[in-house]
Amino acid sequence: MLAMNYRGPQRVRVSQKPMPEIKHPQDAIVRVTRSCICGSDLHLYNGNVPDTRVGMTFGHEFTGIVEEVGPEVEKIKVGDHVLVPFNIACGKCHFCRQGLFGNCHESNSQATAVGGIFGYSHTAGGYDGGQAEYVRVPYANVGPTVIPPGMDPDDAVLLTDVVPTGYQAAEMGGIQPGDTVVVFGAGPIGIMAARCAWLFGAGRVIVIDKIEYRLEFVKNYANCEAYNYEEMDDPVVFVKKTTDWMGADVVIDAVGAEATGNTMQTITGRKLLLQAGSATALHWAINSVKKGGIVSIVGVYGPTDNLVPIGNVVNKGITIRANQASVKRLLPRLIDHVQNGILNPKALITHRIPLEDAADAYRMFSDKLDNCIKPVLIP
Ligand code: NAD
Ligand code: ZN
Repeated sequence: MLAMNYRGPQRVRVSQKPMPEIKHPQDAIVRVTRSCICGSDLHLYNGNVPDTRVGMTFGHEFTGIVEEVGPEVEKIKVGDHVLVPFNIACGKCHFCRQGLFGNCHESNSQATAVGGIFGYSHTAGGYDGGQAEYVRVPYANVGPTVIPPGMDPDDAVLLTDVVPTGYQAAEMGGIQPGDTVVVFGAGPIGIMAARCAWLFGAGRVIVIDKIEYRLEFVKNYANCEAYNYEEMDDPVVFVKKTTDWMGADVVIDAVGAEATGNTMQTITGRKLLLQAGSATALHWAINSVKKGGIVSIVGVYGPTDNLVPIGNVVNKGITIRANQASVKRLLPRLIDHVQNGILNPKALITHRIPLEDAADAYRMFSDKLDNCIKPVLIP
């Protein structure tokens, strides 16, 4: 079968790989119909996730037709068109039982906190992903969900990650009616977080990025304010100024480790460079939230990154909430929101690209070319 094949930093190829096989009675094999590229794939693509092995197939946002099921699979059957959450979850462990499907204890035997994730390096279990013609789906009684009749498959594929992650970003922010919510990052995740912030009663939503076409998009899609940080002296001062010097009630980091920009901080009259490049969005979030406010982090960081300006967190009494999205927990209500027209995720898909051209798609998405918001690979 054809599959995306990682060859090393910024080197992606599409090549023949052996067909996946049922390895466990609860596995299914799915013939992929759509498979997105995610900002999370860019951390792998750029070589920033430890133990990303040459030969791995990425892809954790996919839909497909069930081709084969193991003898213990009851929830789905051959021929079903399913959407598959990006988290691989057993459904039974201590964490899954609490709805923390992104922190499953069984699906990743590595000693990191994250559960298994399709196509996300050996730190997330070493599972091959769905940027391929076929993929093995473990614990097929837990994650895969039949796409409801009438749902557009483009909406369905965004329910595997973008919608739940954006929604959970807003949910973790603990938004109270009337709150001012600032979102750093206008990629698919930040765009969805901004849209979802209104569902929790936000009074004002502000998105900050540097890419003009994304700022234009989010302004319309999420009916919010959108600003370019490259046109500001200091994004932290900008947020403070526009909130009567209080700071935002809630700030969402939808950027992660590959942020650009500089964080300056004035300490007893001296202006210091606190952080350059990596994690600036996280620093801006912590510095621009109000005292006692909440910073919600969905941006992805390396397992051992040590980037939090903890003194500022302590001095301001900030609450930080962070996690991988728990897709399965959120699916029922988010399927409803899509079916009722409250959320319209497919509007984010700007490019449909044959799987064969995955290398070009990665380059375009990584370099933010051709007004790309969300590319989907079609095997
Ligand atoms: P993306 O690459 O499309 O978007 C990131 C955006 O951040 C870009 O538009 C970029 O210009 C902008 N940016 C860079 N530096 C910035 C800064 N200092 N301030 C503000 N904006 C800045 O990625 P995406 O698909 O939207 O994903 C965003 C993040 O969410 C990634 O880190 C990704 O790994 C993470 N993610 C997390 C989960 C989860 O479950 N927690 C799930 C999916 C994605
Ligand atoms: Zn993703």
